[in-house]
Amino acid sequence: MIENAPIDERTLRQTLPATAVLGLAKGPDLDWPRLWMLQHRELARLRPARVACHGAGAALGAVMFFGALPVFVLVPWLVLLTVGLYIYTRRDAHVLQSEKPSLTAREARSHLLGSIVLGVAWASTMPLLQIFAGPDMAIRGLVLGAGIAVGSVVLMGVVPLSAIVFATLLTAGAAIGFWLAGNDGMLLFVGFFTFFGYGSIWIRATDFLRFAIAENALLEQTHTVSLLLREFEENEADWLWQIDKSRRIRSASPRFAFALGESAAALEGRPFFDLICDGGDDEADQSTQSLRDLAESIKATQSFSNLLVLVKVAGEKRWWELSGTPMIGDKGEYLGYRGVGSDVTQQRKSSEKIAYLARYDTLTGLPNRLMLHETLAQAMEDARKWRRRCAFIMIDLDRFKAVNDSLGHQTGDRLLEQVSRRLEEIAGENEICGRLGGDEFGIVVRDACDFGAIDALARKVIERVSQPYEVDRHTLFVGASVGSALAPRDGKGVEELMRNADLALYRAKDHGRGVHFAYEPSLHADAEERRQLEFSLRKALEQNELLLNFQPVVDATTEQVVSFEALVRWQSEEHGFVSPAKFIPVAEDTRLILPIGKWVLKQACQEAMAWPANVKINVNVSPEQLIQADFTDTVIEALSASGLDPQRLEIEVTESIFLNDTEVAREALANVMALGCKVALDDFGTGYSSLGYLRKLQFSTIKVDRSFVQGAAQGSSESLAIVRAVVAMAQSLEMKTTAEGVETTEEADLMRTMGCDRIQGFHFGRPMTSVDARALFDRPYQALRA
Ligand code: C2E
Ligand code: CA
Ligand code: CA
Repeated sequence: MIENAPIDERTLRQTLPATAVLGLAKGPDLDWPRLWMLQHRELARLRPARVACHGAGAALGAVMFFGALPVFVLVPWLVLLTVGLYIYTRRDAHVLQSEKPSLTAREARSHLLGSIVLGVAWASTMPLLQIFAGPDMAIRGLVLGAGIAVGSVVLMGVVPLSAIVFATLLTAGAAIGFWLAGNDGMLLFVGFFTFFGYGSIWIRATDFLRFAIAENALLEQTHTVSLLLREFEENEADWLWQIDKSRRIRSASPRFAFALGESAAALEGRPFFDLICDGGDDEADQSTQSLRDLAESIKATQSFSNLLVLVKVAGEKRWWELSGTPMIGDKGEYLGYRGVGSDVTQQRKSSEKIAYLARYDTLTGLPNRLMLHETLAQAMEDARKWRRRCAFIMIDLDRFKAVNDSLGHQTGDRLLEQVSRRLEEIAGENEICGRLGGDEFGIVVRDACDFGAIDALARKVIERVSQPYEVDRHTLFVGASVGSALAPRDGKGVEELMRNADLALYRAKDHGRGVHFAYEPSLHADAEERRQLEFSLRKALEQNELLLNFQPVVDATTEQVVSFEALVRWQSEEHGFVSPAKFIPVAEDTRLILPIGKWVLKQACQEAMAWPANVKINVNVSPEQLIQADFTDTVIEALSASGLDPQRLEIEVTESIFLNDTEVAREALANVMALGCKVALDDFGTGYSSLGYLRKLQFSTIKVDRSFVQGAAQGSSESLAIVRAVVAMAQSLEMKTTAEGVETTEEADLMRTMGCDRIQGFHFGRPMTSVDARALFDRPYQALRA
């Protein structure tokens, strides 16, 4: 039946073609093979009744005709009946077991064999009785045959060909019987009986078929109704679509029409594909591809579900999700497609957005860590394939935290955006740069020919990033430290390569920042050592492994001790003696410097109380300590706990405090100065050296770094100029100068003549224990020069 066509009276009343009903040939319009199968299923369903009917008839015959018919006739008669019944039942079982929805005309006729064998057996009854037992018995045979005939009309009528052949054989048998008996008059009765038998069979067969047709149409309708219900109930966004075999829209639902931007009536019969691809748009690659997929599925008459199709409806691109099943007619012919669809443009847009967000950094628009990871994985894969190298460069901004903390996150964010733009400018086709998080960036270099190229790129990055930024009317300076690793040499997997680039970066930052370091295997050992140091350092305070040494600072002219610098020492259980140059950076990185610094301050003030009142104590303070909110409190606590006069405490800070968190640090220093403490600028001339810093804060002392002292002693004009300038500057700003690292008499003399106020160095004394420091005051100062 034609799907979706309403089943009406007309369809039911129309005359069914006899050849089709008989299973001889397919008729028009309907799926006859399927109907034949239904006929035979019904026939098979009646099998027990038929077996009972024939079985009872045979048993009755055997009893009635025993003695009347000779054994050589009776036995073959029974055998024939048994064979016929066996053929029937075997075929019925076959039909019942079959899962096929239809029967071929040949299969439909195969039931005939059983009918013929049984028909011959029953037909022979009356003639045989007439011949061997006489007319009385023949009449009994006739009655038995008539009973069987009536039963067969009812039980076999659904498959009329079998029933008619069977009935015809029985009629022929009866006719022969009467003819043998010479009773020609009875032939009329036989004819009459046969006519009604055929009629009954026909009515039974066609009734059954009409019933089956109607029932099937009803099923189809139920299916359609459920789809329609789904459209309206299950998902409000879904609509039903239907096209015929020439892909023209049929019975468009209102919602489908809405999706196409037309009225349902206007759509009827319009070509589906014309409506959804706007044509003439060569840019719509994706659209063409998805439409091709759709067309392909339809061409192959395959069911498809949730196929994403980019359609163009009235000039607007929309994403549709389509499901469809081919509609197959009763004769197995293709009629078109039907299914549900929905417009998923909105969901797609948000999922595209999600995909974008998952791969790009929202602030800078650069690829994020995930995407860099993927890109690097791909680059490494390609490098392997083409036997070349790729690289990963890791960039960390120096002094970014200062901007963030002092000017706020918004300014910090804007700065990061500008840094991103600069990195993008530097990146060529061969490089992809992204943001790893915070102030960390990464660059994947797809094809890295050699280390030189990577180093050049890294330098370019440092140089470009270090140029001043204009943000919110502030001129900002940040630097960059860079670490790099080369694949496959420095790492087989993405993780390993990234980790190694990170190690190199760490080294770069450690090395005073603003430099590029390439990974080398020894960094691993360094990192491991650091890790172990950190582990041990955590318990160093509790285990009393830290102690202070004191190095004398003498007056340049009198050579009297005016102060001691407290220098921390670590005698570690696991590592033995560890130089502060090694563990202080670790402590600073891990913030362990905070408890350690507190302890040093307290300890140093305490110790100074044992010295003459004119001897000061110098305590080194790390930038991290200075920016703690409680720094001033820490100082007050150390002073009050020891009872030390604030005037005797000099805090030593390095220029690095001007690079990070300047405001906070300056305020902290102003606070301790207000207490009466002094502040010395340590290691002057190293690092970022700018005389400008000296104007920023009223330092009491400038400590000239050892490198200049020794440089000057060796006649370096640059060092001499610097020392001279520092001394002049300090004098004009009313600050004192201390020359550090004076190891010889010559150096001491030079520094004195150049105008330095104080001298510190091995020449006057190495860092010593507190006991040795105290002992100094028991002897004259000359002892220092031993
Ligand atoms: P620094 O503040 O510049 O300390 C002076 C360093 O120079 C000391 O090294 C000292 O032993 C060394 N030195 C002094 N005179 C001479 C000399 O004539 N020749 C040579 N070659 N070296 C000399 P030390 O004790 O190894 O300290 C290294 C650094 O560790 C210090 O440099 C300081 O920055 C840091 N440090 C030490 N103790 C502390 C502390 O308690 N807190 C903080 N934050 N840092 C500390
Ligand atoms: Ca110092
Ligand atoms: Ca120093």
